[in-house]
Amino acid sequence: MDKIVIVDDDPDIRRIAELRLRIAGFHVLTAEDGEAGLQLIRAEKPRVVLLDLMMPKMHGFAVCQAIRSDATLQGVFIIVTSAKTYSADIKKVKELGADLYINKPYDLEALVGAIQKALASSGRPAIAVKFWGTRGSIPTPGRATLRYGGNTSCVEVRCGETVILLDCGTGAREAGLALAGEFKGKTLHAHIFVSHTHWDHIQGFPFFVPAYIPGNHMTLYSVRGTDKSLAKIFTGQMDSSYFPVDLTDMMAHLDFVELEGPIELGGAKVTHFYLNHPGLALGFRIESEGKSVVYVTDHEPYCRLSGDNEHNRKLDREVDDFARGADLYIREAQYTEEEYPTKKSWGHSTWKDAVDSAHAAQAKRLVLFHHDPMHDDDFLDQVVASCRSYMREKGMTFECEAGAAYQHISV
Ligand SMILES: [Zn+2]
Ligand SMILES: [Zn+2]
Repeated sequence: MDKIVIVDDDPDIRRIAELRLRIAGFHVLTAEDGEAGLQLIRAEKPRVVLLDLMMPKMHGFAVCQAIRSDATLQGVFIIVTSAKTYSADIKKVKELGADLYINKPYDLEALVGAIQKALASSGRPAIAVKFWGTRGSIPTPGRATLRYGGNTSCVEVRCGETVILLDCGTGAREAGLALAGEFKGKTLHAHIFVSHTHWDHIQGFPFFVPAYIPGNHMTLYSVRGTDKSLAKIFTGQMDSSYFPVDLTDMMAHLDFVELEGPIELGGAKVTHFYLNHPGLALGFRIESEGKSVVYVTDHEPYCRLSGDNEHNRKLDREVDDFARGADLYIREAQYTEEEYPTKKSWGHSTWKDAVDSAHAAQAKRLVLFHHDPMHDDDFLDQVVASCRSYMREKGMTFECEAGAAYQHISV
C-alpha cells in the first residue's frame, strides 16, 4: 500500500482528503503544521506528500526545500496545494522541487487521478532486486572474481516497503550492513526465504547484523528438512563447535515458518516449488504489481539426471511452468556442457539448461546464478557469450547475463 502524507493546517481539508485517499487504497498519514509534517515525512518516507503552503511553524516552501535536500527522501512525489494562484508562487514551488501544483479548492476525484498517474510514471519499480551474493558452493574471494563477486547466494528483493531476502549465503553479511544503516533507529522486518540449508545458502546468517538489533523482526521461511526442523538447523549452525555466538544471542525477534502454501506480504505474493537437488531445495516466485521474479537455484534437470523419458520431461516442464512469463528469471547455471558429465548427480544445471528453461518459460530476462567457484570473471564472460550465440542460433530473444554482486535490477 503506498503511503501519502497530507500536511495541511485546515482540519476539514485533511479529513476529506484522508477519507477519499483511503478509499483509493492509500495508507494516509496527516500533520497539521509544516514542522510536524516534515518530521512525519522523515520518519515514514511516504511516496507522496500533499503539501499546503501557508501553515504555522514552517511554510510549505521550507518543507519542500527540506525534503529535496534530504538524501533519504529521494523520489518522494510532492504535490503542493494552495489557494494562492500567483504565477510567482507556482514558479517558486517548482524551483524548490515540487512535482505538481494544484489550486485549492481541489476536486477530490481529479486529485486521486493525478496521484495515480504520477505514481504510475514516477519510475519506482514494482520489484527492485539487488544481488549481494551470486557464487555457488563456497565463497570465492580474489582478484579474479571482483566483477561477478565471490560471496555465496543472497538476493535482496523489495516490493514497495516489503524487504525480502532470497537465501542468506555469505552475501547476507553486506546485505545486513546496508539494511542496518538504512533502518537505523527504525524497525526492520526482513522476510528471509531459504531455498535449502546447504552452507552456501545459510552461512551468512550468523553475520547478519539486523538479527542482533532488538526490536527488529526476522522471519525465515523454508520447508521442514528431511530429519530436522528449520529452527534446529539454524540453531545447529551456531552451535559452539562451529561459532562463538549462539542463536539466542540474536536480539531481534526470530520466527521460523515452515512453508505450506503461498505467503502474502503487503502487496507481494511468494510461492514455492520443489527442485531437484540432494536433500530438499525450493524455488521461489515473487509477484507484485503485475511483475514477477523467479529464483531457481540448486537444481538439476530431471532428464539430465535420470534419463530422457516422458515422466522426467513432465517434471522438467513443471519447473519451466513455475517460471512462466517471469519478468526476471534468476536461474542457476553452475556448469558448462563439458563439465557436467563429471558433476552429474551433484544437483546442478548447465548454462544451456538455464537458457532452454528461460526460453520454454517465455521469461523476459535471464540472470545466470550460483557461479561455480572454478569460474572466474573472464570465464563467466565466455559463458555469457556462449549463451548469447546459442540464443542467436535458436532465435531466442530474451535478455541474458550473469548475475554480478551489487547489481541492481528494476522489474
Ligand atoms: Zn548452492
Ligand atoms: Zn545445494
